[in-house]
Amino acid sequence: MIPPVRGARVSVPLGKRVVTGIAVGNVEAWDRERAGTEDMLKDVIEVVDDETFLPEAIVELALWVAEYYACGPGDALAAAMPPATASKTIRVATLTAQGHEPELPLKGRQREAIELLKGAPEGLTTVALAARGISPDVLKRLAVKGLLALARDRVERDPFRSGAVSAVTTIATDRLLTDEQRHAVQSLQDMADARSFGVALLQGVTGSGKTEVYLRVAARVLEQGRSVLLLVPEIALTPAVASAFRDTFGDRVAVQHSGLSSGERSDQWRRIRRGEVPVVIGTRSAVFAPLKDLGLIIVDEEHDASYKQDETPRYHGRDVAVMRAKQENALIVLGSATPSLESGHNAASGRYQRIVMQRRVQDRPLAAVAIVDMRQEYAARGPDVILSSCLEAAIDARMNAGQQALVLLNRRGLATAVFCRQCGSTLDCPNCSVSLIIHADGRERHRARCHYCNHSLIVPTACPKCAGPYLERRGFGTERVAAEIAARWPGAVVGRLDRDSVRRKNAAAEILKSMALGTLDILVGTQMIAKGHDFPGVTLVGVISADVGLGVADFRAAERTFQLLTQVAGRAGRGSEPGEAIVQTLYPEHYSILHACRQNYDAFFADELRYRETMRYPPLTALVNVVVRARDARSALTDAGTLVHHLRSRAEAGQFRILGPAPAPVAKLKGEYRVQLFLKGRHRGAMREAVLAAIAAEPDMRRRVAVDIDPVSIL
Ligand code: ADP
Ligand code: ZN
Repeated sequence: MIPPVRGARVSVPLGKRVVTGIAVGNVEAWDRERAGTEDMLKDVIEVVDDETFLPEAIVELALWVAEYYACGPGDALAAAMPPATASKTIRVATLTAQGHEPELPLKGRQREAIELLKGAPEGLTTVALAARGISPDVLKRLAVKGLLALARDRVERDPFRSGAVSAVTTIATDRLLTDEQRHAVQSLQDMADARSFGVALLQGVTGSGKTEVYLRVAARVLEQGRSVLLLVPEIALTPAVASAFRDTFGDRVAVQHSGLSSGERSDQWRRIRRGEVPVVIGTRSAVFAPLKDLGLIIVDEEHDASYKQDETPRYHGRDVAVMRAKQENALIVLGSATPSLESGHNAASGRYQRIVMQRRVQDRPLAAVAIVDMRQEYAARGPDVILSSCLEAAIDARMNAGQQALVLLNRRGLATAVFCRQCGSTLDCPNCSVSLIIHADGRERHRARCHYCNHSLIVPTACPKCAGPYLERRGFGTERVAAEIAARWPGAVVGRLDRDSVRRKNAAAEILKSMALGTLDILVGTQMIAKGHDFPGVTLVGVISADVGLGVADFRAAERTFQLLTQVAGRAGRGSEPGEAIVQTLYPEHYSILHACRQNYDAFFADELRYRETMRYPPLTALVNVVVRARDARSALTDAGTLVHHLRSRAEAGQFRILGPAPAPVAKLKGEYRVQLFLKGRHRGAMREAVLAAIAAEPDMRRRVAVDIDPVSIL
């Protein structure tokens, strides 16, 4: 067999199955240690592609991901592959002129194949041939002899024709830039012209017009014949940026979003691969888009946690994008009104070039933010208050003036716990160590549902433990707030945007569109309403329980709260009327809330960095999270202890510090117990190596251990 070229697809045996793999090099050249144990190396059955399938640069990037995030190269390469590549490829075999020659020295299956193909001038698919006992291997051998040709046959689907992407706003290309925009465009174009690796942090307040800046820089790079990649956190939630690019660059843009079928995605992937589309917009996995001559990567809302994948490979789309830009000598622009501590720190230390836009376009003021101390509200009006009198009055005013309001509560459901007044027990998930959340979902009989494993049941009328009839509901989420608001303002059209209300395909896009068109008066929702939306009619933003996120045991709690509040307040006053935000909280003195209300990123950054420094948290130290799962709580703890034992000598040598093992915040998840430990240190490499060595020493634990390098969320 002719050895495959790097990046070609190959068929390899895996147990009893045959799977598609990617050739990354031959065994001699390939560092055996990195490939894992000897038995992970398989013989190739068939070389699928004669040329590179996954471009060299993408193979490089995936291998870097495998190394950095301590996962297998196969996991990383799988993330870089177009979806359903194997199943969507129908190959058709046709005879060549040589294959039509009458006297061929062939026997057996090869001869049969030729006879069959002589009767089929249009060719036969490999599937049809296989049904007649002709294996791909036989065909391959005939192809090598030059007797037949294997071609790929497929119907290409154009996602734009089906109207899957809806335009919400349009951007005028001849618009006059603000001074800050002009300066930003100039600096970024200069960086792009240098044609060398550079990272810029575009720190622009909400409504400063970052999209317009992206467009101008992208236009410049395209003019130079180079391609552009735009990463967004979630396309369904931020359709405006994608539409702006579509409106400006037309069909030179491919948008990869979850509304596409896997067939449409892989067709798009091929068009990009062939160099037919120079602009790609997508979520984190689009960082592997096979663009040629990449000149510019833009990571919009770079602080967004959804860039981090929470399953293997646990990569951060933004960080992989920076590496890709480096490998391809491209410019990368990280945009946000509330940059992550990591990016802020990199800008402060001069590694990234910071470009600031402090003013909104057309000199619109930022929303005026008022804090309502709910402790006083409860004292005056009782503990069941959801909307403070201040927020009620503000909504009243908007409804009278025909303006719109957004109401944020970053917690879903009707009630967040059911509590028995007789025995004190709560209704918990049998599979996870969390309480069930009550949902009405528009139905009469309410259900209690687990937000982790989806286990659900109809809310019982008596306590399942003691049969006591006094079940009390506690806590409230978006569903309750929406119901409360609908009852209080019966004339208003109230919508809700959260994970529960958008299960149906396109539901999110429809809700956002109704809001943009002004059909909805009030939109209640979770963090989903705080993304980069541009609703000119919204003049009021209300935040219920601004401190929801502060209660969790996560060193990023304050950062996330600050970002969420700043972003949501930034949705108000983006049209001709000025905006106002009202923030209800039990901790009005907390620095994340105070700085968010003043929309003062720099002050927050300084305070937060001091905290991270004192506590030795990222970005000042590197962090690795290891979670061990087991059927029972004790083995999870014992196994984690065994890992710690293996790690200890290196920790004692001062390479890093170990924290834990301790039960994870969600100690039981989907029926498994979870114990975690953390490694903190200066050198990621040393920690990564140590963890991999510890796991290698305990092979039967391998499947139950999850390693997360640079964790973003700790459950
Ligand atoms: P950001 O992403 O920085 O929050 P956007 O890019 O959404 O801001 O822009 C906010 C609004 O301002 C959008 O409606 C956009 O069309 C508009 N806009 C952007 N630049 C200009 C400009 N130079 N003149 C007038 N309007 C602008
Ligand atoms: Zn559960």
